[in-house]
Amino acid sequence: MKLLNEESVKGRSLSLIGKCDVEEYIPYSRFLRDEVPELPQVSEVTLSRHFSALERRSHGVNNGFYPLGSCTMKYNPAVDEEIAAFEGFTGAHPLQDDSEVQGSLQVIKDLEDRLSAITGMDAFTLQPAAGAHGEFTGLLMIKAYLESIGETERNKIIVPDSAHGTNPASAAMAGFNIVNVPSGPDGCVDLEALRQAVGSDVAGLMLTNPNTVGLFDKNILEITRIIHEAGGLCYYDGANLNAVMGIVRPGDMGFDVMHLNLHKTFAAPHGGGGPGSGPVGCKEFLAEFLPGSHVEEKDGALVRVRPAKSIGDMRSFDGNFLVAVKALSYIWMLGAEGVKEASQNAVLNANYMRVKLSDIYTPAYDTTCMHEFVLNLQKLKAETGCSALDAAKGLIDYGIHPPTMYFPLIVHEALMIEPTETETKETLDEAINALREIYDKAYNDPEYLKEAPHSTVIGRPDEVAAARHPIVHW
Ligand SMILES: *Cc1c(COP(=O)(O)O)cnc(C)c1O
Repeated sequence: MKLLNEESVKGRSLSLIGKCDVEEYIPYSRFLRDEVPELPQVSEVTLSRHFSALERRSHGVNNGFYPLGSCTMKYNPAVDEEIAAFEGFTGAHPLQDDSEVQGSLQVIKDLEDRLSAITGMDAFTLQPAAGAHGEFTGLLMIKAYLESIGETERNKIIVPDSAHGTNPASAAMAGFNIVNVPSGPDGCVDLEALRQAVGSDVAGLMLTNPNTVGLFDKNILEITRIIHEAGGLCYYDGANLNAVMGIVRPGDMGFDVMHLNLHKTFAAPHGGGGPGSGPVGCKEFLAEFLPGSHVEEKDGALVRVRPAKSIGDMRSFDGNFLVAVKALSYIWMLGAEGVKEASQNAVLNANYMRVKLSDIYTPAYDTTCMHEFVLNLQKLKAETGCSALDAAKGLIDYGIHPPTMYFPLIVHEALMIEPTETETKETLDEAINALREIYDKAYNDPEYLKEAPHSTVIGRPDEVAAARHPIVHW
């Protein structure tokens, strides 16, 4: 496939629209470039075909099953997109006076209230634009809180070894030192190791529950108690709320501050660059540190108020507002019962696949999982030479996006499968069959599997080189 620049012909352009007969007026000429940029010059149909061809080469939820563990690539209802496209929302400007955007402020307030109800928190900010951004925000709030009570010697954040990579990264960015605690053989936090790790220098703990191996930590109340007793705060990584919304609440598990990924659990599409939204919620005692502004009712009208000791702005204005509209519309449509049912079906679908595969693939933890499960392909690799990577690549030929591979790091040859609640039993059965055929292939024709995928233009790019040395210019 040619690049647009390679298709460019000098002078060719989108010439359907006639020349404008109104004199050009440039309000901010100081922002103009000195030289005309070298943009591709192509006809409209060439441009349209180029992007359609690109689209055909990529895989999205609309192309097929996408069981990418930890990422919740579920189908997002189209109606939420339509509601977010209402002119009253898209036409509002963040600098308009509060009195002119009461409807939009109502959306913000309503979403904050509903997220509080779902998570057991007392207040939310919609400013952070992503999950990791939310983590960083929550950690800065913990830092501000500790400073406000004069406990600045608390500089350690405890992170379990199964944590999502963003957790230690965010804690480091917020200026904390990271202390790793191991998981036990049951995949849960090793309580003895946790007790050893806490002390007067602990600022807090970052944890996700269900954890990244898809298990609900049965000791969660004890874990948060140990941290609180040591004087630290508990941060909940709620990027994947898909197993527990409507069932249990981080606020009731003992967490003080958390983020959610609206672009995983609450109807915003993701993968492909966003926009996302990682709202941060907290208990009452932390609310005065929230960034941005908070919507409150005053004299019968909604107004934006900055919390007293706000850590400042983490992003412009009210965050990715249209993503919030989608999330609210999604929550309204599901209702309290529907939210719970979504979680139940996500857990059911994951367990269905786990059980139907566990006679040939080894589950990393042979117990009921939450919304995702991890397979350990070490045995397959030892016996056939085919790795988790080969199995994942093989799935592409079935029109299925590979599961998350080699994560979490505590499981070797890991495939992490998250079917989500929006898939039908037929789709799950097809995926189970595909994985069973791949297993047979590994034993009968390993070379074929090692060269998979056979159906795509590119099969096995050098991902490290692509990430470390991207060629982003023409
Ligand atoms: C996806 C994810 C994140 C990060 O979210 P981004 O929006 O990609 O920054 C953090 N923690 C967990 C457990 C996740 O699954």
